[in-house]
Amino acid sequence: MGFESSKEQLKVKTEIRCMTCDYKIVRDFQQGDFVPKIVGQCPKDGGQLYIAGIYAESTAQQKK
Ligand SMILES: [Zn+2]
Repeated sequence: MGFESSKEQLKVKTEIRCMTCDYKIVRDFQQGDFVPKIVGQCPKDGGQLYIAGIYAESTAQQKK
């Protein structure tokens, strides 16, 4: 068994956080995303949601 080259894909994820509480979600990156863009309202306390980070995530799961 071996790894086939270029089967592993990187997915780009966008991490969104609330400014006023600890609410956080991660969704797929969308065109136009940047840090620290305001993207909406928090469903918990109505605070502003902003993009806290954008990162690439490997689809191959690594466990520690
Ligand atoms: Zn909040």
